[in-house]
Amino acid sequence: MTQSKHYKIAIIGSGPAGLSAALYTARADLKPILFSGMLLHGQVSQTHLIENYPGFPDGISGMELGQLFQKQAERFGADIEFDQVESVDLQVKPFKICTYSQDYLADAVIISTGADPKKLNIPGEKEYTGRGVSYCATCDGWFYKDKDVVLVGGGDSALEEGLFLTRFVKSVSIIHRRDKLRAGAILENRAKSNPKIKFVWNSIVTEINGEVSVNSVTIKNVVSGEEIIEKTDGIFIFIGHRPNSTMFQGQLEIDDLGYIKIDQKMQASIPGVFAAGEIADPIYRQVVTSAGMGAAAGMQAIHYLESIE
Ligand code: NAP
Repeated sequence: MTQSKHYKIAIIGSGPAGLSAALYTARADLKPILFSGMLLHGQVSQTHLIENYPGFPDGISGMELGQLFQKQAERFGADIEFDQVESVDLQVKPFKICTYSQDYLADAVIISTGADPKKLNIPGEKEYTGRGVSYCATCDGWFYKDKDVVLVGGGDSALEEGLFLTRFVKSVSIIHRRDKLRAGAILENRAKSNPKIKFVWNSIVTEINGEVSVNSVTIKNVVSGEEIIEKTDGIFIFIGHRPNSTMFQGQLEIDDLGYIKIDQKMQASIPGVFAAGEIADPIYRQVVTSAGMGAAAGMQAIHYLESIE
């Protein structure tokens, strides 16, 4: 049997938090290993334009920013493995990490597994995912050129993605369950002044209908109870995210919403295990805050390793 490779630091997840942690620990010459997961660079890779990451006054595409994060971490010796972690054992020292292809040992672990889009859990959603149901305008917007689409959600993501879709589509109906948006004023103003965007207030989608692909959605007005069927070529869903913490259940303290609990030093409930980014942040969830958390977790992991040497 081959012996497990032993690293000082293992980082799980390749979004802004994980790659910042990799940069900091690599610059401390700790030669970290980072497991990318299924989505290289995480959610940032699917964001069409990032306008609020400092240093890029004209904005930068999420894909490009992710590539720059990776390049910088690799420049200092971070080892990026394009592999998915299947399980971890945080009850043993060194910690054990099992991927699809191999087992690894690590003295410290930084978890930055991020979050996945929330689902509506309505009839038709699962059946038509990839055939009219989408959670990523950057990935799928092009397929809806000159078509009519609906979009669910009233937060910043919903409006940002809705505005992006207007580059391609004929119209976007934004369906929101209240009569007031959660999104910030800048995006609200931009969306409201875009002629391709229409708002459907106090409404929810109760069913996604189609044959080979989506052809309509059933929309219910939550105030009047009235239901209508709206013809559409696709539905985009942006109703928030759920943290990817299932693998750590039973091993680490996790809150009711699924976020890993950390202290001020980014440490989870087991010494030597740190968490950063959306997996541990129910509040800010920005690229800049995730990157900051990753840097902080990296610095704390360095201190932890010094303390046990
Ligand atoms: P969010 O702020 O949690 O908004 C989720 C939206 O979906 C809310 O409007 C919510 O309605 C609605 N919703 C939730 N569950 C629903 C359901 N089951 N059915 C129908 N509607 C549902 O999520 P987000 O927009 O993804 O943003 C997450 C964080 O990232 C926020 O902090 C946001 O500011 C940030 N963000 C910032 C930017 C930017 O600064 N440019 C861009 C994207 C995201 P209610 O309002 O009624 O709760």
